[in-house]
Amino acid sequence: MQALSIRELLAGHRALPGDSPRLDAELLLAHALGKPRVYLRAWPEYQLTDTQLVRFRQLLQRRMRGEPIAYVLGIREFWSLDLKLNAFTLIPRAETETLVETALAHFDETAIRALDLGTGSGAIALALASERPAWRVEAVDIVPQCIFAASANADRLGLTNVHGIVGDWCHSLAGNYRLIVSNPPYIDPGDRHLEQGDLRFEPRAALVAAEHGMGAIKQIVPQAAARLEPGGWLMMEHGYDQRRACGDLFSRAGFIDVKCLPDLAGNDRVTIGRRPAEPS
Ligand code: GLN
Repeated sequence: MQALSIRELLAGHRALPGDSPRLDAELLLAHALGKPRVYLRAWPEYQLTDTQLVRFRQLLQRRMRGEPIAYVLGIREFWSLDLKLNAFTLIPRAETETLVETALAHFDETAIRALDLGTGSGAIALALASERPAWRVEAVDIVPQCIFAASANADRLGLTNVHGIVGDWCHSLAGNYRLIVSNPPYIDPGDRHLEQGDLRFEPRAALVAAEHGMGAIKQIVPQAAARLEPGGWLMMEHGYDQRRACGDLFSRAGFIDVKCLPDLAGNDRVTIGRRPAEPS
């Protein structure tokens, strides 16, 4: 095999798809070498061994076929936490940080029991657990491989206050929670974005819900109402055009102080509501 240096290999980055080909090429090369990205700057003349070259080309091919960089690397940063992903977990999104920020703004350090429904890689549960060490955060997913990923992430990050549970929304839970958060599937099955970009490679079950994307939210809202302590909060991520439908479901389930918050791009993204406190 012809010996190639880091500099020479990175010069070919323009063949990669997407809007950050140079960065992606660097991430893939660093991954193939098992080194941090700064290594590439420090040793541009380093010539790869045959094994390293084969590994790099395999990663490159996956990316060339359009596979998201987060799946090729098997990792994505969320809330400054490096999360390992697998084929069953959604890629954590920047807009989901709105949900984390909203939860943290409503609750201080005081120990509470919190629940994350449809946890996937554990992104939301782990972000909350890292910011609020005194909380007990339970993380539910119906897909065992997601609970495996979330629990492995919790172990790696040393977050012992996260507990993974395989279950169908609230069906296998006992007791009540002070806070329930969820980023459920909410995309309409007919949405043409599903055939484009990264979405093509993500698990449909984590993205798509029947009834114009409202099917999962419709199940979760009343179940969550029954699992919250009086005065407890439900906080739900949803599509930019689901504010009305979501707000109606919250009100019908008896939630008060219902409001919708925008994400950083200004889209309606998170609806929150509170269970009334018991009359004293
Ligand atoms: N926000 C994601 C998207 O529109 C969807 C995530 C979800 O369905 N929970 O790509």
